[in-house]
Amino acid sequence: MKVFKFGGASVKDAEAVKNVATILKQYPDQNIVVVLSAMGKTTNALERLTNAYFFSEENKTTETENATTILEEIKKYHFDIIEQLFTDKGHPIYNEINNAFVELDWAIEESPTHSYDHEYDQIVSIGEIVSTKIVNAYLNQAGIKSKWQDVRDFIQTDNTYRQGNVDWELTQRLSQALATSEGITVTQGFIGGTSENYTTTLGREGSDYTAAIIAFTSNAESVTIWKDVPGVLNADPKWFAETKKIEHLSYHDAIELAYYGATVIHPKTIKPLQNKKIPLYVKSFLNPKEAGTIINEDQSSLPLPCFIFKVDQVLISISPKDFSFIVEENFSAIYKLFAEKQVKINMMQNSAISFSVCIDNDAHKLPDLIKTLQKEYRVLYNENLELITIRYYDQATIDRVTMDKKVLLEVKSRYTVQLVAQNND
Ligand code: ASP
Ligand code: MG
Repeated sequence: MKVFKFGGASVKDAEAVKNVATILKQYPDQNIVVVLSAMGKTTNALERLTNAYFFSEENKTTETENATTILEEIKKYHFDIIEQLFTDKGHPIYNEINNAFVELDWAIEESPTHSYDHEYDQIVSIGEIVSTKIVNAYLNQAGIKSKWQDVRDFIQTDNTYRQGNVDWELTQRLSQALATSEGITVTQGFIGGTSENYTTTLGREGSDYTAAIIAFTSNAESVTIWKDVPGVLNADPKWFAETKKIEHLSYHDAIELAYYGATVIHPKTIKPLQNKKIPLYVKSFLNPKEAGTIINEDQSSLPLPCFIFKVDQVLISISPKDFSFIVEENFSAIYKLFAEKQVKINMMQNSAISFSVCIDNDAHKLPDLIKTLQKEYRVLYNENLELITIRYYDQATIDRVTMDKKVLLEVKSRYTVQLVAQNND
């Protein structure tokens, strides 16, 4: 069995959905589990909806977006696509998708009863439910026999909402039917279910991870992630004009790149595949015949430096209030706090009297984190920074990327350098 993952961009409009069918037609008589994300930017829109729903009561003074209006936008976006895909207005998909949105409409009429993260997962997961229903119906209409499968029936997580931890044993047991299912099965990325039948999500961009979980538990022969880029590139074309495709990557390098923030693959994706030596292909859904990138256990270092660029970074410097040395007890307390607040440290460094960490600027977490740190420590911080990671660096590359930038912090290891920098302009 093969696992194919199609992200939001590959199902962002009717043309894209048709293209998915064209790709699948090139794999006749194969057993393929198709893992799908929500269409286009639906997850972002559902995030906005959740915020409007959850915070509108608390924040009466500020101008918040109206949850119902956002829902109407999301609904319209999906129905525009449906109308282009299904000319028969009597097709059952119209009713099915309408019902899914009506349920959401009812849900947001009631006041929230659970935590933000819990409510978030129940709402945001709708994106994947509707995208899989639409694509599955379209495939069948296009003559590709496929069945729809609710991923929550087999991917089970604990109840850490927005960051569900997979119960591997249970998931393995529940996945048996999927592992032997024939033909094409369409299922949702990004989401899982709890023992109390609530929905969890696996973290933003988590559909790649879903593909890896399914491949692991069903002993798939390979995973293919279909993207709008030709494969894994040595830099994100969003930030760099000249990028090169990497033909082969070792699992190890892929893990390192993903860990440092290369957005091409979700960081949790590689480990399950590596454990079972399942190869991962990253291919272009625009040029499906092209080779793309293969990620497997063959060790070979990358032929060129790879760049990972993160914007909107904050550098926090933490020191004891009495200017004493920063010691192990401090580290332990500081790390514990970051873990509790679920703030990921992108880079860190310490000196005798201070500890510096670079993190994403998350408006939901940062103010609270700083306030808590300030109870015990002197805290300075700098916003609007960039974090540049270069794997397989050399000095010429460092000089080139830091031109016109002020470097505030630099950490080097044998293969990787990380720089926190401020734009001079
Ligand atoms: N739809 C989810 C997101 O946008 C999951 C994914 O695309 O992988 O984060
Ligand atoms: Mg996505």
